[in-house]
Amino acid sequence: MLIMALLLTLLQYGQLDLRLRHDLNTRTHMIARAATAAVVFRDKRDAADILRAFEDAPDVRSARLVWPDGSEFVAYARAQDSSSWLQRHAGDTTARANVVANGTVQAQLVVSASRSGLWLALLGIMGGALAIMLVALAFTRFLSRGLRAKVRHAEDRTQYLAHHDALTGLVNRVAFSGELEHALAQAMRQRHGASLMCVDIDNFKQVNDTHGHGAGDAALQAVASRLSALVRTSDVVARLGGDEFAVLLHAPVAEDVVQYIAVAMTEEPCTYLTPTGATLQVTTSIGVAMLPRDASEADAAMRCADVALYHVKRQGKNGYAVYAPDMGEALRQRRRTEQDLRAALKQDQIALAYQPIYDRDGRLRSFEGLARWNHPERGWIAPSEFIPIAEEAGLITGLGLACLNRLHCDLGQWRRAGLPAVAVALNLSSHQFRGEEDRRAFLDKLDALALGPEEVEFELTETAVFEDMDKPESIVNILQTRGFELALDDFGTGYSSLAYLLRLRCRKLKIDRIFVDGIATRADARLLVDSVVRVAHAIGMVVVAEGVEAAADQACLMELGCDLFQGFGLSRPLPPDQAARCLADHARDVRVFAFGAAATLST
Ligand code: C2E
Ligand code: CA
Ligand code: CA
Repeated sequence: MLIMALLLTLLQYGQLDLRLRHDLNTRTHMIARAATAAVVFRDKRDAADILRAFEDAPDVRSARLVWPDGSEFVAYARAQDSSSWLQRHAGDTTARANVVANGTVQAQLVVSASRSGLWLALLGIMGGALAIMLVALAFTRFLSRGLRAKVRHAEDRTQYLAHHDALTGLVNRVAFSGELEHALAQAMRQRHGASLMCVDIDNFKQVNDTHGHGAGDAALQAVASRLSALVRTSDVVARLGGDEFAVLLHAPVAEDVVQYIAVAMTEEPCTYLTPTGATLQVTTSIGVAMLPRDASEADAAMRCADVALYHVKRQGKNGYAVYAPDMGEALRQRRRTEQDLRAALKQDQIALAYQPIYDRDGRLRSFEGLARWNHPERGWIAPSEFIPIAEEAGLITGLGLACLNRLHCDLGQWRRAGLPAVAVALNLSSHQFRGEEDRRAFLDKLDALALGPEEVEFELTETAVFEDMDKPESIVNILQTRGFELALDDFGTGYSSLAYLLRLRCRKLKIDRIFVDGIATRADARLLVDSVVRVAHAIGMVVVAEGVEAAADQACLMELGCDLFQGFGLSRPLPPDQAARCLADHARDVRVFAFGAAATLST
């Protein structure tokens, strides 16, 4: 900008100088012409009068008419005091014009003028340029300051986002790792314990799937603020991703304080409001590592807290556990089982055991098909071990399909052997139909295997049914519309609300074996079963007693009006060939017991 201003000034100087000379020259020539007569007639007074015309031109400092020999004829000089300081010091420029008469030069007019006008104009221009420059400079400064503030703000924001979770405002995984390392180093130095908690929302996927992502976000925020409220400001609460949180309690922190926080967090569910205005609750599970006792490095500390968390999940969630070395082995074992199960589904290692269900006359009415896993090394594995793993590892959909395939094979064999057909009830898990594609795959498989209501029924636990029931695309609705019979499984262990029964259109209600076992001598169980049977019958449901082991219990259940009976006392779950024999007996109308003769039950 300065260079531009200098160039501009230089250019202006050239132009002004040119104009000054031109003006002075023109004026000098005019006056010289006007002075011709006075020169020719040697009239000094007239000549002096003419030269006085320069008085109007303030820059002109002197004017002289000189003869060709150089002697002076007349001169005009401006008084020193009437000229300004600038006029005196700005330097002069001179113009000459000949006074010509009859073609000969009579005299010469020499005019000297101050260059002050030029400098004044130049100063004006320079001043203007300077003012513009200053304004521009101030403006640029103002702009750049605003810009710098914006850049700084953007930098701060980027820095914040790099270290925080946008949804909850908590520290993120990256920043948390740094904090953890720092806390570990400090705990090692001070020989005081710090603590790391891994916190996980129970069944978070279900919240998202059932109530939408808005509800999921609200649940995350509720857990975040609950955790933050429980710890000191010096402690760190982080969201590691998904529904995983971590809490770092700086040293010194005693184990009972850690326990207090863990209990406070898990004792009561976190209540939150969904975007649709519904009030919901979530529970959490917490794994704790005491530092540096359990680990002296950040990665190992996270692993320990994770292992403890896994332990809690396996124990049924919504609780906490402090890491113990033997938990690691259990986790490894579980991971192995998960891997093996993945392979088992591909290698057709899943079979079904068929447990007969009898009516009041001891006739076979149906089977319950129960999944069995024939592990190549471990032999038969019970569903109580692998179903929860399948549910957690997302393998339950595949397991459900494997059961349908297996049932189709077994039914085919029985049919080819000319055995009578009875329906087989398969168990469905609430984890089995989380996604639309899971439902589709299941229904497509039923179609592909041509399994209809004659061949298969389904058992769902209360929890599974109630979770599913309100969805428009509910599997319960779809199966019922297709005519499949549904049984409400394990009744009494879930919501256990008789009012719910009215909303359902399940055909069967299976009373859980915790009420059946010892009912003959338990008045409370009798009271409960009695009222359940009454309500169920009133709304047209068939009541199945599960886990019937003792003859006395069965007699009592009969008295209370139960319609169907299943249990080790009547028959254990049978492999397909033995189930075939059971069907053959059924064809010959062999009864396991006769009504009123439950004492024939093998116990
Ligand atoms: P469940 O649906 O309640 O099945 C009945 C369980 O009770 C079976 O255990 C059966 O063997 C057992 N049981 C039957 N009678 C008696 C008795 O008199 N006394 C005792 N103590 N137990 C009896 P199982 O086969 O070990 O199955 C356990 C659970 O695993 C089942 O409980 C069911 O929830 C689940 N399950 C089994 N197969 C499948 C499957 O194919 N899919 C799904 N999603 N779950 C399955
Ligand atoms: Ca069942
Ligand atoms: Ca059951």
